[in-house]
Amino acid sequence: MLDVLLPRRCAVCTRPGSALCGECCSSFVRLAPPVCERCASPAAWPVRRCAECAGRRLGFATARGAILYDARAKAFVRSWKEHGRRDLGRLAAELVIAAMPRLDADAITFVPGDRDRGLKRGHSPPERLAHELGAMWDLPAKSLLLRLKPTPRQRGLGLQERRRNVAGAFGAIAEVPRRIVLVDDIYTTGSTVSGCAAALRKAGAERVDVVALARAVR
Ligand SMILES: [Zn+2]
Ligand SMILES: [Zn+2]
Repeated sequence: MLDVLLPRRCAVCTRPGSALCGECCSSFVRLAPPVCERCASPAAWPVRRCAECAGRRLGFATARGAILYDARAKAFVRSWKEHGRRDLGRLAAELVIAAMPRLDADAITFVPGDRDRGLKRGHSPPERLAHELGAMWDLPAKSLLLRLKPTPRQRGLGLQERRRNVAGAFGAIAEVPRRIVLVDDIYTTGSTVSGCAAALRKAGAERVDVVALARAVR
């Protein structure tokens, strides 16, 4: 309804017209293989571990990101979050679908929103993205996780601090299926999705694969 009434603007460059103009859409950097099989860090050739994930205890089996988390992706995610634009959830899902094959799983779930920050935004991008992807991939979207304690903002923190912040921060709320796809909007170091995946496995999941719209690359 709102889509019809409001003049649409590009989420990245704010030019009126469409929710994401062709120019901005094609300027996103697609994260195509070869990437690290485990954490999706760009690599010169396919590898099973990389400098970024080797030696780290990660709760998920694999992680994939559709686009590079650069200035344009940041603008896209900011519009999506701050303006509660539901049309961008569909676009985000289309970017993911175009970037990777469908994952086989019993359910698709999402990193739960922080209640304080979530209220301000009115909705949670990971949840929207999980529902859109669930519809496109024919996977039941389920709310399986909750936050057991508020986590401080992770921006600017090192790996150790991030891991400490998410330790015990997530719990699974229901009996969980065996194979789960876990969705987040941005993959930065993997600490948050790793904490969520660990909670799902503690509740009985055998395998958790992570899908993110955008992935930061160091
Ligand atoms: Zn644009
Ligand atoms: Zn890796």
